[in-house]
Amino acid sequence: MKKICIIVPAYNEEASLPEMYRQLCGLREEQKNYEWTFLFVDDGSSDGTSRVLADLRAADGCVTYVRLSRNFGKENAMLAGFDYADADAVVVMDCDLQHPVSVIPEMLREYEAGYEDVYARRRDRGHEPPVRRFLTKIYYRLLQRSTRMDVLPDAGDFRLLDRRCVRALCQLRERQRYTKGLYCWIGFRKKEIFFDPADRLSGRSSFGMAGLLNLAIDGITSFTTAPLRISTVVGGLVSVAAFLYLCFIVGKTLVVGEPVQGFPTLITVILFLGGIQLLSIGIIGEYIARIFNETKGRPVYIVDKVNGKDV
Ligand code: UDP
Ligand code: MG
Repeated sequence: MKKICIIVPAYNEEASLPEMYRQLCGLREEQKNYEWTFLFVDDGSSDGTSRVLADLRAADGCVTYVRLSRNFGKENAMLAGFDYADADAVVVMDCDLQHPVSVIPEMLREYEAGYEDVYARRRDRGHEPPVRRFLTKIYYRLLQRSTRMDVLPDAGDFRLLDRRCVRALCQLRERQRYTKGLYCWIGFRKKEIFFDPADRLSGRSSFGMAGLLNLAIDGITSFTTAPLRISTVVGGLVSVAAFLYLCFIVGKTLVVGEPVQGFPTLITVILFLGGIQLLSIGIIGEYIARIFNETKGRPVYIVDKVNGKDV
């Protein structure tokens, strides 16, 4: 019998956990020809999440949970899940019931048909502000162009992964993780299926605009050095333009002389160049920051307890 492990990162999900568990049990009843485990990763929650998990564990041996020593963020919590899962295939999903359990049987069908990475794509993006929708579109267009990888805007962390995909992901120990890109990077045969996202059952999304911006910058800087190349090219173009302008000014001064004038030109050029320089330094800084963070070689997460026991 094939083993399937459902990995659920949970951060302050006390309210949604019981319903989540109930739905997973429904799935288990329906799909009796698999051996199920439900692996919850408690990402340093400050509410009663770990108590609820302990209760679930006490009542049902299929439930396991790993508690991290503090809040490490969803990306890192998922890696913890991958590390602790021991199954033929895993399904990663959110705890807030935005990822409907009812899609999993279809994922399993595709898995049985030989696909190693079956990801669910949102059919529509729900009620998002148009500005956000527009920015998302541009961002992914840029990311795809510069990385030549198909990172999809509306496919995320709701997917079924074969054992080999999980093993591959576990090998990638980078700290500022952009898992969405990593799924593409590892390759394997992928299959998309569609689902309608539900609204969050309770609580609030932990990703605000600032969080998304950070994730976006991480996404770019962890997958492509294109911004560095762009600043090189822009720097080159600006230098050429500056040289031509210099020739023009010198020539003009020699021919018609130069009464001191031209303050507006001067200040515009200085400010423009200053802006480009600061931007380029910022871009370099982003990459240096990544190097700094990676060279420290810290573990991606620290485990506090597994199934309520100290490790
Ligand atoms: N999550 C987590 N650690 C965090 C933030 C979120 O493990 O620091 C979990 C959260 O419990 C949920 C999933 O990640 O299961 C998705 O979070 P959320 O619903 O806040 O994100 P969104 O649906 O807006 O992408
Ligand atoms: Mg959510």
